[in-house]
Amino acid sequence: MNNIIYLDNQATTPIDPKVLEFMNPYLQDSFGNPASVNHILGWQADEAVEIAREKIANTIGAQSNEVIFTSGATESINIALQGLIDSHIKGGDHIITSNIEHKAVIDVLNAISKKNIEVSFISVSKNGIIDTNKIKKYIKQNTKLCTIIHGNNEIGTIQPIEEIGRLCKDHNIIFHVDAAQTLGKREIDVNKMNIDLLSMSGHKIYAPKGIGALFIRRKNPRIELKPILHGGGHEYGYRPGTLPVHNIVGFGTACEISIKNKDVDNKRINKMKNTLLIGLQKIFPDLIVNGDLKNRLEGNLNITFPKYSAEKIMMKLTKIACSTGSACSSSTPTPSHVLLALGLKKEQINSTIRFGIGKFNTTEQIHTVIDMFNEKLKGK
Ligand SMILES: *Cc1c(COP(=O)(O)O)cnc(C)c1O
Repeated sequence: MNNIIYLDNQATTPIDPKVLEFMNPYLQDSFGNPASVNHILGWQADEAVEIAREKIANTIGAQSNEVIFTSGATESINIALQGLIDSHIKGGDHIITSNIEHKAVIDVLNAISKKNIEVSFISVSKNGIIDTNKIKKYIKQNTKLCTIIHGNNEIGTIQPIEEIGRLCKDHNIIFHVDAAQTLGKREIDVNKMNIDLLSMSGHKIYAPKGIGALFIRRKNPRIELKPILHGGGHEYGYRPGTLPVHNIVGFGTACEISIKNKDVDNKRINKMKNTLLIGLQKIFPDLIVNGDLKNRLEGNLNITFPKYSAEKIMMKLTKIACSTGSACSSSTPTPSHVLLALGLKKEQINSTIRFGIGKFNTTEQIHTVIDMFNEKLKGK
C-alpha cells in the first residue's frame, strides 16, 4: 500500500477487508433501494439493512426499532440534541455536559444556548475523568438533559457512564452519550447504563466513512425527537433520505466483528501501547502522559514531550501518521480545548502528540516508530 505507519486510529480507521467483502454485493448486484417494495432488489436491500440494524442494536442491548442510520456520529448528535428542542427541552431549561466533549456536541450546544437554554460545561478532574458527584451538584429543577462523551478522542479517557446514567435516571434527566470511540471496544448496554440517546460512528471501528447510527429509547421513557430534516419518512420519520445500503451493511458487519474480537483486540492493542510508551520513556525520560492511564482506550497515548515542538517532530518523522493536538482542530492552530481542560499550558500543548494504535498495527511497526524517534530526535 504505502510505507506510512498509521497511528491515528482515533481520527479514523482503515476499512477492514472483511467488511469490504460484505459490502461489495450491495454496490453491484443487489443495488436496489430498500424503499422499493415492488421487486426483489428492493426486498434484498431492505433485508440487508434490517439485519445490520439488528447487529447494531445487539451491540448496545437495544431493540432494532430503536436504532436509526445516519451519516455519522456528528449527524446523530445533531438529530439527538437539536431534536429534543420543543419536545423535551424548552426555553429556560438547563443542560449539563463536560468540558472535554467532541466539537460536534459543543457546537450544537452553543447553537442551542441561543434559544435561552442554559448549558453548564463541567470541568473534568486533572486526569481527564468527570466526577459524578460534581455533576450531581449542578443538577437543578430545570435540568432536562445531560450529554457526556464515553471515550475521549484526544486523551482516550473513559467516563463513568453507568454511574452518570443512574444519577440522570434518579432525577428524570435525559441522558445522551457520544460513543463514537467506544462502540465495539467497551461493553455498552443502554438499559443497564440508563442511556436514552446514543450516538455512534462507523469509521472509528473499521467500517467506511459516511455511516453512523443513533439509538433513540422507545420506552421508560419514550424519547420524542423533532426531525431536523424533512422528506420521505425514512428511518421511522427521524431521518429522511435513501439509505446507503452498502455502508449500512459494512457498519453492521464491523460491529459484529468488533464485539466478537473485543477482548483479544483490546489486549493486543494495549500491549503495543505499553511497548510504545516504555520505548519512548527510555528516549524521553521526562515525557508526560495526558489523561488517566487506567480508564482509557487501549490504543490511545497522548504525550507531552517537554521542550520539543510537536510540529517539528512530525516534520522529521514523515513516515509516521499521528496527530498534534486534536485531529479535528489541527487544521487551525488553536490549542486543543481538551488539553486546556486538563490544565496544560499553551507551550505544553504545542509539545503534545496523540498516538492512536489500532487493530491493524503490528508490534514490529511500534518498534520501528521507537527507532525512528531515537534516530531522528535523540539529542534534538
Ligand atoms: C469521530 C467522533 C465524532 C464524529 O463522528 P463522525 O462519524 O466523524 O461524524 C464524534 N465524537 C467523537 C468522540 C468522535 O471520536
